[in-house]
Amino acid sequence: MKIYVTRAIPDSGINLLKEKGHEVTISSKDGVLSKEELISELGKEEYDAVLCLLTDKVDGEIFDAAPKAKIFANYAVGYGNIDVEEAKKRGLAVTNTPGVLTNTVAEHAFALMMAISKRIVEADKYTRAGKYQGWSPMLMLGTDMYQKTLGVVGLGRIGSRVAHHGKNGFDMNIVYYDVKRNENFEKEYGATFMENVDELLKQADFISVHVPLLDSTRHLINAERLALMKESAVLVNTSRGPVIDEKALVEVLKNKQIRGAALDVFEEEPKLADGLDELDNVIITPHIASGTQETRSKMSEMAAQNIIDFLDGGTPKNLVS
Ligand code: NAD
Repeated sequence: MKIYVTRAIPDSGINLLKEKGHEVTISSKDGVLSKEELISELGKEEYDAVLCLLTDKVDGEIFDAAPKAKIFANYAVGYGNIDVEEAKKRGLAVTNTPGVLTNTVAEHAFALMMAISKRIVEADKYTRAGKYQGWSPMLMLGTDMYQKTLGVVGLGRIGSRVAHHGKNGFDMNIVYYDVKRNENFEKEYGATFMENVDELLKQADFISVHVPLLDSTRHLINAERLALMKESAVLVNTSRGPVIDEKALVEVLKNKQIRGAALDVFEEEPKLADGLDELDNVIITPHIASGTQETRSKMSEMAAQNIIDFLDGGTPKNLVS
């Protein structure tokens, strides 16, 4: 059958599709296809499946452009880029790639947390600029993580892994907020459930955000809530940009109302909120939290396997609609 892939991804999944005898067309554009370009590409053949990315906005118009395609396999665990309700109405399958990126994203969240608390990026720039004049007792003092309070917002696959690292690596005290309470996790990690996100923001020294982007999580961390954080606190976001009001965060960072922030995701990617990149108390990475060779290959294989299972007449493992 014919499968369209909206952008080059690691070969491992593409090879799985080809080994099954499917014909795979990969977008030749070095970058994201605009909506018009994607519609035009999909119109060139009668595709039976589409492997899409989080940078593709997949809605009714895209479904119309590929009328034979009954599966849209997203190469991401988040699927806010796909109009799942519309897919459901049309009886289309939508799949994602959960689990395979959990450890990698949790590692990145921790890398950011450590980098901001130890001022690694600032220190690197300072040293490269030739400013280092020798050891100094007051030079670039950071903050410890050991036995501090780690607040996890969204204790799902990634959030619980971050909590695991905090507890086992740094003996951190874990508090969490989620729409679902997890008493087994509380027992295992001595963690405390917070009834609301406000309480977590007031108590935590390090806050790591791991909720999906939903109507209920858009600007979950807004200006009022940012104001609840401790002056010494650090905010890390590897979930989705719109979960935090980025403009409000810039103000808070400018005014040094919190120690710092580290962000892998932004409200209007690839744009950054005005002034964000001028601040020293923020570290920004370009949405690469799942970006290791191992994990991106596994995501490629998982997205491909979802298509293979569906086209074989089975139910893909990672169905979200
Ligand atoms: P998950 O579904 O396992 O966990 C999400 C958790 O959030 C669940 O426990 C859920 O109950 C909770 N939740 C949902 N709505 C909530 C709300 N309104 N308030 C509080 N908690 C709420 O998902 P996951 O695999 O841990 O991934 C989490 C998110 O991380 C994804 O949705 C994706 O957007 C993001 N992500 C980002 C990257 C990256 O590259 N930066 C990579 C992978 C995932």
